[in-house]
Amino acid sequence: MNILVINAGSSSLKYQLIDMTDESVVAKGICERIGMDDGIFSHKTADGREKSLTVDMKDHTNAFELVKDALIDSQVGVIKSLDEVVAVGHRVVQGGSQFSKSVLITEDVVNAIESLNMLAPLHNPAHIQGIRACQNVFGTKVPQVAVFDTAFHSTMPPKSYIFTIPYEYYEKYQIRRYGFHGTSHKFVSHRCAELMGKSMDQLKIITCHLGNGSSITAIQDGHVLDTTMGLTPLDGFMMGTRSGALDPSVVTFIMQQENLTTQEMDDILNKKSGLLGVSGVSSDARDIEQAVAQGNKRAILAQEMLVYQIVKYIGAFAAAMNGVDAIVFTAGLGENSAAVRQQVCESLQYLGVVSDNNLNEQMIRGKEGKITSADSTVTVYVIPTNEELVIARDTKSILKEIN
Ligand code: ADP
Repeated sequence: MNILVINAGSSSLKYQLIDMTDESVVAKGICERIGMDDGIFSHKTADGREKSLTVDMKDHTNAFELVKDALIDSQVGVIKSLDEVVAVGHRVVQGGSQFSKSVLITEDVVNAIESLNMLAPLHNPAHIQGIRACQNVFGTKVPQVAVFDTAFHSTMPPKSYIFTIPYEYYEKYQIRRYGFHGTSHKFVSHRCAELMGKSMDQLKIITCHLGNGSSITAIQDGHVLDTTMGLTPLDGFMMGTRSGALDPSVVTFIMQQENLTTQEMDDILNKKSGLLGVSGVSSDARDIEQAVAQGNKRAILAQEMLVYQIVKYIGAFAAAMNGVDAIVFTAGLGENSAAVRQQVCESLQYLGVVSDNNLNEQMIRGKEGKITSADSTVTVYVIPTNEELVIARDTKSILKEIN
């Protein structure tokens, strides 16, 4: 039983074909630079066959044709015909207040996703293009499902999601905290409960998704109490190139002083800030670690700030939940940077965190496990995330419902 998982961005389309009988990835790949010159298509199968080519893809349908051809190709294919794909699951970043769980895609659903374009101008239009591309290539008989980044956070109470601005803006424009990376926070928190042998409703968990984009979520009794990302994925703490939260007057001050348009200011906050902006070195935590080792002062400052801000949010969320049983690190940085994890854990001794350096050093490159010792009151885990699997599982269960 094969489910195709699609993550369509404005100029890219990532895919994974997952065999749901054992949840294994059969093939995966990416189309990059869609709509530009020199597009790049690469495809890999689980048994090590590969195809990559430079090819112009004029739109997402064009890109998706390549995906289809690769999946059924005589050399690098993994299925005989598209009939072997039972459903398609799409990642959709912004589900607004309308979507608190995954749904079967209908014209009404596409219209509703489209109506949220204003809240996610970079993402939702691209997802719609991905959905249309699949409809064009598969026809409308293959069920398609939308899985929203925001859905897991929909249990947040108003005290967490209402911003401290006049209430009319919430009523007029639905301006509120939505939260993102929901599929990742859901996956790792459920896996954490499984590893602890407890049910979600017995636990207070803080999940730290640290990647290019990062967010931290407080999960109590299986429900999200609060999360760091807000109306957009810019809120929270410092990321690769995004600022995270700052005094809002900084924005108006810089715009006035430098005579910037909203688009220019948006670019500074989203693309030139965070680790890159402070260090002047790179947005990639690996480069920062290297520069730290060479004694680069601004890289040292950037890393100290990152650790400090993570520690601050963990403290805030532990206080908000009146305790914490487990903390989880996940995503590129969370799964691989033993240095950042170690520094964070050292600042959490007041919570009863006793880290085990040896275990921490071992948890890299996709390994899952505890990084605290047996006498630690709070258990800290590294759990590799798998957003595609959540999308495939949700798609499978919706398929079951409609059948
Ligand atoms: P995205 O948010 O784009 O999905 P990922 O979750 O793949 O990103 O995270 C990518 C980031 O993870 C990189 O930019 C880098 O900062 C960090 N990272 C990856 N590997 C390592 C490593 N070995 N050590 C430190 N940081 C790493």
